[in-house]
Amino acid sequence: MTAARTPLIAGNWKMHKTVEEAEAFIQALLPRVATFDSVDVGICPPFTSLQAMVDSARGSIVRVYAQNMHYADQGAFTGEVSAPMLSELDVHGVILGHSERREYFGETDKALALKVPKALEAGLEPILCVGETEEERERGDTERKLRHQIQEDLAKVPEDRLADVVIAYEPIWAIGTGLTATPEQAQEACAFVRALVGQRSEDAAQRVRVLYGGSMKADNAAELLALPDVDGGLVGGASLEAEPFSTIVGAAS
Ligand code: PGA
Repeated sequence: MTAARTPLIAGNWKMHKTVEEAEAFIQALLPRVATFDSVDVGICPPFTSLQAMVDSARGSIVRVYAQNMHYADQGAFTGEVSAPMLSELDVHGVILGHSERREYFGETDKALALKVPKALEAGLEPILCVGETEEERERGDTERKLRHQIQEDLAKVPEDRLADVVIAYEPIWAIGTGLTATPEQAQEACAFVRALVGQRSEDAAQRVRVLYGGSMKADNAAELLALPDVDGGLVGGASLEAEPFSTIVGAAS
């Protein structure tokens, strides 16, 4: 983390929390993060709680992100939500390409190549997730996987917008498993992601925020967030309660 890039701690709630539970969370979180500065805080609730969270977080440092969107503005896509629909709610951004969407819902790099620029056009900050499986790491294919995902998913993003994308490096073997990447593994992969952006634009590489995700918790956050190429965290399990989430935010501020 360098002073030039404001760290972002984003809580990915996945398919958790009713509106009532989300309200209880935000009321507990807001006083805990009120004194923090030089850190951006995000929560990523299910679609059903977006409006309520935008309203409750207004005027605070907490920003609200969706967990997915379609690349079309509208159309015959039952069950989908578009970028203009999210920006109308004053949602700040959207997670794109989470490994769970890639694995369980057939999210492809081809679709992501359309989704990322569409989010930017609609004024949303995309958090693009990339990362390798355990098998790919063991085979020595981590860099090849990251290169493929970054090149494909950002292919249609103009150079002057690259730094507006947040990239979350999430090793799939660390997600929800309690296994965290070592600081060396996290630094190496996040630096590699930044270097890939640098192949398009050195200026963007310096400005783009690269997050680490995968079993980030209160007791390992400080070590991970101190790494030079880690500009924050995408937090799953540990974001579901105001505490420990606010402790992780504090570790970044
Ligand atoms: P986890 O999830 O922190 O529970 O490992 C991270 C994520 O899926 O974004």
